Amino acid sequence: MLNLVIFGPPGAGKGTQAAKIIEKYNLVHLSTGDILRIEKAKGTPLGMEAKEYADKGILVPDDLVIRIIANKLDENKNAVGFIFDGFPRTIAQAEALDKMLIERNIPIKAMLALEVDDDKLQKRILLRGKESGRADDANPEIVRKRIDEYNLKTSPLKKYYTEKGKAHSVYGIGEIDEIFKELCGVIEQCN
Ligand code: ADP
Repeated sequence: MLNLVIFGPPGAGKGTQAAKIIEKYNLVHLSTGDILRIEKAKGTPLGMEAKEYADKGILVPDDLVIRIIANKLDENKNAVGFIFDGFPRTIAQAEALDKMLIERNIPIKAMLALEVDDDKLQKRILLRGKESGRADDANPEIVRKRIDEYNLKTSPLKKYYTEKGKAHSVYGIGEIDEIFKELCGVIEQCN
């Protein structure tokens, strides 16, 4: 089973590359950001709870996103593999994910880290905000907060996966297709 984590700061291109990877390798895409936005749009209790945090650019509580992922794993029992996008985002989430996957006997093959410089991220996100209308992308202060949250709580996961021999870095600036080719190279080496 091909289980991948796509990792990187907000605006690194995780969603863009994940879409290409799922098409090529037939994986199920689990993006906690997308799932939370859908729940918010539907106005579910889960969506309303997450909104309180996401609209301010801070991470939603671990137990909430862990529950979402556990449900999705059980809903997709016949999947060829999963790509986790925007999850895990804290050490507690990474430990919970490992536990869930070990229980199901489907461990992570590789963590693909997209590397993009901080100054590029701000510009990319503000542009995406204009194009998509995403509220948390439009406000420079909220964008800054998300990048700070990433640096503080999420970037330590690089070490977590490096220690397990699963982290692979790919430079995330340049042509989308070139970056995709590099990612495919890494995936095929691990598979
Ligand atoms: P980006 O990577 O561009 O910041 P996402 O779409 O992945 O955007 O996430 C949007 C928001 O949803 C985050 O700022 C955060 O509040 C919340 N979120 C998404 N995934 C998680 C997660 N795994 N843990 C905690 N909060 C999350």
